[in-house]
Amino acid sequence: MSEHVGLVLAPEARIYDHGHGHPLRPERVLLTWDLIAAIGLDRAAGVETLGASAASMTDLERVHTRPFIEATVFAGHGGFGEASAFGYGPGDNPIFPDMHEAGAIVCGASIAAARSVWLGETEHAFNAAGGLHHAMPARASGFCVYNDPAVAIAWLLAEGAERVAYVDVDVHHGDGVQAVFWDDPRVLTISIHEYEPPFFFPGTGSINERGGPGAPGSAINIPVPPGTGDAAWLEALGAIVPRAVADFCPDVLVTQLGCDTHHTDPLAQLRLTTAAYREAARLLHRLAHDVAGGRWVATGGGGYRWAHVVPRAWTLYFAEMAGVTDLADRLPAAWVEDASARAGSPVPATFSEPSLEMLDADAAATDVTAAVIDILWR
Ligand SMILES: [Zn+2]
Ligand SMILES: [Zn+2]
Repeated sequence: MSEHVGLVLAPEARIYDHGHGHPLRPERVLLTWDLIAAIGLDRAAGVETLGASAASMTDLERVHTRPFIEATVFAGHGGFGEASAFGYGPGDNPIFPDMHEAGAIVCGASIAAARSVWLGETEHAFNAAGGLHHAMPARASGFCVYNDPAVAIAWLLAEGAERVAYVDVDVHHGDGVQAVFWDDPRVLTISIHEYEPPFFFPGTGSINERGGPGAPGSAINIPVPPGTGDAAWLEALGAIVPRAVADFCPDVLVTQLGCDTHHTDPLAQLRLTTAAYREAARLLHRLAHDVAGGRWVATGGGGYRWAHVVPRAWTLYFAEMAGVTDLADRLPAAWVEDASARAGSPVPATFSEPSLEMLDADAAATDVTAAVIDILWR
């Protein structure tokens, strides 16, 4: 049986641009779509491209407060007002033109993926432009204006989904999504992330954060130390995520696929290679079929090697979603040439990478995995 798989294309999302020198460059997503097209994955059997429109106020207000949304509209149109009270200002969350419109289109693109999966038009759908998991109900945070994974999950719940599992593999804790659904037993949030408070952003995500009084156990955190590599990271993912998600019996699996876990990422210190993304994609794909009737909504996320890593990482995930098992290891020469020219240095020409040696951090990560298992299932 061939599956239907959706690829959300929202070229308007390129206006989500914090400006020159900011690490969250729109090219991360544009080069991903280019690579997917250069390989022909957008035309693979069963794959269809999906458009998107901006999320409505109703959609946004399921997660964000009206004063925050109004301040975002105002600041993005030249007014400063109370913007600093909502997380905006120099640094991570600079005010940029049309930032409300930009955030709303990113949310709309994640809703488009969720809608297609929820209506059964596709089994899996991917919005590479999404994954802005740090935005809080009333505050921008960590490059994130509106929290599109949370808005898409809230849309699913409003449409009748009873249980949604959210798995976040970005190197940073999925704090915004966890906060939005902290006290909601209908949503299980699981985040595996680098953890070294108070130095590493956002500083939350310890194993003891387990959900609010109305939803005990609805949050799971796997905080691994800086230096963790492929084997220990995959061991943690494989030992905890499938079992926890299966126990929860979700209607839909939503994943945030940040790839700032890569060993060359400038903003973080994990040591993954693309081999880990290939394996994580297999695990999440299998999990969606095993426990969620195949319903899998995926977003992008962090990842700051915008030409060298991000497009390859997300193309590997999308190839797995699309059921393409014979993906050539060598990237199309024309794409490599274009990406290298834009980046100003040669980008890798293959998906695969040399593996790295293991460090002491891997043993420490294994201890974290054991501690989480102990909390969950002792
Ligand atoms: Zn991140
Ligand atoms: Zn599938």
